[in-house]
Amino acid sequence: MPSNYPLFPSLDSDKIRNDLVPEILQWGLVNGLVMYPSNHKLDSTSIAPTTVYPTPFPKKSFDQAVSVQKAYNRLYATISQDGHDHWLSREISKLAKFDPDFTGKLWDLYQRAVTEGISQPLALGVFRSDYLLDNQDLEVKQVEFNTVSVSFGGLSTKVGELHKFLNDSGKYTTTGDVFYNQVIPVSESAELLAKGLSEAVLKFPAAKDHTVVAFIVQDGERNVFDQRIIEYNLFKLYGIKSVRITIHDVHLKTVVDSKTKRLYYLETGEEISLVYFRAGYSPSDFKNEQDWENRLALETSFAIKAPNILTQLAGAKKIQQILTDEAVLKEFINDEDTLDKLKSSFVKIYPLDDTELGKEAKKIAMTSPEKFVLKPQREGGGNNIYKEAIPGFLKSIPEEDWSGYILMELIKPEPTTQNMVLRGNCISNEPILSELGVFGYVLFDNSTIYTNEYAGWLLRSKSSSSDEGGVAAGFGCVDSVLLY
Ligand code: ADP
Ligand code: MG
Ligand code: MG
Repeated sequence: MPSNYPLFPSLDSDKIRNDLVPEILQWGLVNGLVMYPSNHKLDSTSIAPTTVYPTPFPKKSFDQAVSVQKAYNRLYATISQDGHDHWLSREISKLAKFDPDFTGKLWDLYQRAVTEGISQPLALGVFRSDYLLDNQDLEVKQVEFNTVSVSFGGLSTKVGELHKFLNDSGKYTTTGDVFYNQVIPVSESAELLAKGLSEAVLKFPAAKDHTVVAFIVQDGERNVFDQRIIEYNLFKLYGIKSVRITIHDVHLKTVVDSKTKRLYYLETGEEISLVYFRAGYSPSDFKNEQDWENRLALETSFAIKAPNILTQLAGAKKIQQILTDEAVLKEFINDEDTLDKLKSSFVKIYPLDDTELGKEAKKIAMTSPEKFVLKPQREGGGNNIYKEAIPGFLKSIPEEDWSGYILMELIKPEPTTQNMVLRGNCISNEPILSELGVFGYVLFDNSTIYTNEYAGWLLRSKSSSSDEGGVAAGFGCVDSVLLY
């Protein structure tokens, strides 16, 4: 441990249970650090799973992640513009065959949208690039790049405010003194993501007072409060109203003008300027054909989409794998400095296809699986296959389907014991690992990038004994950083 590694307050467990936990629960409920429990009933255990303290994170590595965000935004916007002789379309059409249940369906939908006509050239990307800290060289390494349903920007700000309050008001000590003698940073994501949505609305050709933003949400979403924080900021800071619609209700709650393709919210007659997807990233979000038709109606409407189908597809894990090939990356980035910065955030990712590299990967997946994670083209946690489970899994499916997966080197962050996790009324003292997310947004059309901004950060932590880290999925918790 480096000598400047921050110390952990030594409170006894009675003090934590009797004083600190009620502080956290009450602060969480008052300030919206909340998530529905699985039975959807609110009580004092409803605050989102959180750490008791902020987690130490090297400043240099944190700054590294923040400093590449705009380059990543630009890269994914450029790919989504589908230039270079339709590079993205070509890659996705190949991938579609190996994942007919989801990538294939979205690809078909995109092609139908093109046939019907795409009426809105503007697109908004609201992205989150996720990293784990490689403990060998203290560089952050990218886990994945999310282009749809980017969550926890609201709660991240809340948990930073919680930790800052607990420290600055002396709750981490028995004497009422400040424990961490430094500023606890608070992510500005709750405001900056609202700003991102507002930029799209302001560029939309209609008076902002007469339009609304439609949040497309999951039926039974537990992470409602995270989303509502963004909605409240959108209204408070920019005077922009929002409505919440499930993908199942789009045909009941909206109507498209067949001539202008403008999209209206039926209840109030207001025009929808921006459709912000917080759902639609998983096959289970689409329950029947009507839901797919609803997605198509939104895609062909004049409303701006965040994201449109191509931008969503650009976030496929297969695309992330292909971009680790320097020759491909160079097609999209010509500045050497940016290229080097992006490359230093990659770990090795292999295809599992019939290319030379793919053949090599098929061998190492069988001989040294303990170094890898196998990923399908899915989002939202709980889909990956880890280490020793990889060979058995691959053997259980036909080899021609392996191309739908990528094989990624495991990143090995150092667990810390300098924290505790509060989930419901339970405190757990296990070592934790943290994943840093950096938010960004980018507004673009086929030829131009209009706005490209960094939009705050997120730290999620999980017990080091579990492979996955989804908070809503019950594997992890929200956290904040103590930079050193
Ligand atoms: P999803 O889109 O479902 O969130 P991820 O690629 O983020 O998929 O993988 C889910 C989780 O698996 C991550 O949050 C992380 O905890 C773990 N994970 C993924 N890739 C790696 C990796 N290369 N090394 C270590 N852990 C990983
Ligand atoms: Mg993801
Ligand atoms: Mg993830």
